[in-house]
Amino acid sequence: MAVPKTIFKRIIDKEIPADLLHDDELCLAFRDISPQAPTHVLVIPKREIASLASAKATDADLLGHLLWVARELALKLNLERGYRVVVNCGPDGGQSVDHLHLHLLGGRAMGWPPG
Ligand code: 5GP
Repeated sequence: MAVPKTIFKRIIDKEIPADLLHDDELCLAFRDISPQAPTHVLVIPKREIASLASAKATDADLLGHLLWVARELALKLNLERGYRVVVNCGPDGGQSVDHLHLHLLGGRAMGWPPG
């Protein structure tokens, strides 16, 4: 039986809309539907990788690219006071969508430690 697509794969396949901020051959970035900060953007690879834990050595350049895109978006979105990039991984990490993604959060001061 076919594994159902994740919500992010459906966004990649343009089956559901997203507020896109970036689109290149490797990844997409779009605004989170339930923002946890004034700026909350998700950066996702087009390649289907379930989580950071399941990434392979051959994904290393792609992982670097995702981080670079988050950095470029932070500049574009004027997060000059700073920002946070988060990767939730697995149940204890609070990951709810099984498609690797970076959260770019900014526009307010962040607390530490995270909850
Ligand atoms: P996680 O909890 O897996 O680290 O993050 C998943 C994120 O995806 C959450 O912040 C959630 O609000 C966001 N999200 C879930 N469904 C959708 C959707 O359909 N569209 C968008 N733009 N974001 C979504």
